[in-house]
Amino acid sequence: MKKVIVLGSTGSVGRQALDVIDSVDNISVVGLGAYSNLSLLLEQKKHFNVKNICLLKDSTLGYSTFEQMIEMVDFDVLLASASSITSLKSVCIALKMGKIVALANKELLVCAGNYLNQLAKQYGGLIIPVDSEHSAIFQSLKGEKAKSIIITCSGGALRDYPLNRLPFATKDEVLAHPNWKMGDKITVDCATMANKGFEVIEATKLFDIDFDKVKVLMHRESLVHGMVELEDNTVIACLSTPDMRLPIQYALTYPKRIGSRVSSLDLVGKSLSFDCVDKRRYPVFDLIVEGGKKGDSVSAYLCGADEGAVNLFLKGNIPYSGIHRIIEKAYNLAPITSVDDVIAEQIYNEGIQLALDSVKR
Ligand code: MG
Repeated sequence: MKKVIVLGSTGSVGRQALDVIDSVDNISVVGLGAYSNLSLLLEQKKHFNVKNICLLKDSTLGYSTFEQMIEMVDFDVLLASASSITSLKSVCIALKMGKIVALANKELLVCAGNYLNQLAKQYGGLIIPVDSEHSAIFQSLKGEKAKSIIITCSGGALRDYPLNRLPFATKDEVLAHPNWKMGDKITVDCATMANKGFEVIEATKLFDIDFDKVKVLMHRESLVHGMVELEDNTVIACLSTPDMRLPIQYALTYPKRIGSRVSSLDLVGKSLSFDCVDKRRYPVFDLIVEGGKKGDSVSAYLCGADEGAVNLFLKGNIPYSGIHRIIEKAYNLAPITSVDDVIAEQIYNEGIQLALDSVKR
């Protein structure tokens, strides 16, 4: 029986992970961590018969921090799917214990990827990607070294939106993702392609590959999730029905592969298209990739600024174009220094503050 702790259990990935665990025999939940959704957390606790829980908003309920729970509970796999970087310290602890981390929070690799890699190497921990593109690449590579990596993107909800009206796109328009069901923050990040910028950084950390070897292609159908080009120019692609339960399940059952509830892919009558990314539509993407090349501190600052900017947009405090303005400002002000978990969190929070300050003035 594989014992799993799920951080962010009431969020989109967490709920889908529990759906996966419910459908398989040999995985049990031994810990649940959430931010504020008490009723759902208690429901999950009961359904999965879990003793150990942590609700960050109410420390009287169980463990008062995720970190405490990680240290006290016997587990095999930590699923990190809490929002933003709230599970950064927990992931560090798990890696120091030599555990498997199923990583759904790309923010952690974006903000502190070098440090996390160093911990995994030093203590024998393993990071398995849950992000669909990176799971696809991980599955395609099977330990081989890639000559180049191709990450696909759907282009998000605004891929066909008139360019001249883009600055004024509304929240409802931005949240109408054509292919994937996800949380609000990441759906906005798909529209700006900040998400894809972070995913390029994530790929360089996961697969030890240079930025110029990671390519992004528009693929409107979201059926090919990732591709790898090998030494002899063979390209291996990974296709499936776009459903997050597949990459979640693979990360939880790795290295085994088992049956799933996700429908099989019927390609009859379907076509697959690939295109370059239209840079005019996604100015945030380049800023984030260029920031990533400068180092983890710059990425952490941009990641925080994006978190702040997207929250402001979702609350109606800034227009859609305000997200780009804040990221551009953050790009110009980002500090360059080496980071560990503490410094990464600090810089990330400074990035959020920069976004908040932009509306005060
Ligand atoms: Mg992704």
